[in-house]
Amino acid sequence: RTVYLNGDYLPETEARVSIFDRGFLMADGVYEVTSVLDGKLIDFDGHAVRLERSLRELDMDSPVTRDELLAIHRELVARNGITDGMIYLQITRGAPDDRDFVFPDPETTPPTIVLFTQNKPGLADNPAARVGIKVIGIEDQRWGRRDIKTVQLLYPSLGKMMAKKAGADDAWMIEDGMVTEGTSNNAYIVKGGKIITRALSNDILHGITRAAVLRFAREAQMEVEERSFSIDEARAADEAFITSASTFVMPVVELDGQPVGNGQPGPVAARLREIYLDESRKAAI
Ligand code: PMP
Repeated sequence: RTVYLNGDYLPETEARVSIFDRGFLMADGVYEVTSVLDGKLIDFDGHAVRLERSLRELDMDSPVTRDELLAIHRELVARNGITDGMIYLQITRGAPDDRDFVFPDPETTPPTIVLFTQNKPGLADNPAARVGIKVIGIEDQRWGRRDIKTVQLLYPSLGKMMAKKAGADDAWMIEDGMVTEGTSNNAYIVKGGKIITRALSNDILHGITRAAVLRFAREAQMEVEERSFSIDEARAADEAFITSASTFVMPVVELDGQPVGNGQPGPVAARLREIYLDESRKAAI
């Protein structure tokens, strides 16, 4: 792979980052994942806007403009011959001379920016979308600023491992009895035709796919309710599903070993997936 590091395009084996990088030592950094379908970027602007917000919330400056970022994404797609896949982007607070809790001066310690591609042929034809995924409920033990897309992913990673151990595919995290979100996706249920998903706050990541899916749902006259729901309510729902940039809309057919609805992917999730893929492809750049 050709990757991007601080202004240079390099073979992945030649890209080197300091051991003092605050991303490495302190998870002091933010990231984005943008999908590529048919060689084009899905919702690039949405990801760029969220990245700028994440940086602002952590008092970091972007080392690149939005136009430069777009150019880098496109260059990596071209150099790596990506038709379907993802582009991972990470910006950390850079590498000072020593480990220190105090932020380094950005004048002398510029941020570290890394981008690389992930080739996923047939990304939109994921067979999992036809059978649905199994999810378990776990406690949400993350910090309180989940709206900032930081590289602090240890708990979501542990959650994913708990799911694997339980024979499931993913975990929905629960706080005060209510589902916050999946380990790397937003969570939804459908009851009586109504799409229910937790409202935006600092408790969840403001999914770019979530925003698009809710917009398309409303445009298609589907009813949307942004409010919290419990695992019990989810278990009694007609359908459940998740959204994320790399899974789009993915049905959830089992919760804690119990079927959701009839245990099959539901019609609302299937319709939303179709609309999302159609519309996103049309708007891709
Ligand atoms: N919530 C969490 C915790 C996530 O990590 C992600 C994906 N990174 C999402 C939601 C979905 O966000 P998006 O649709 O922007 O990929």
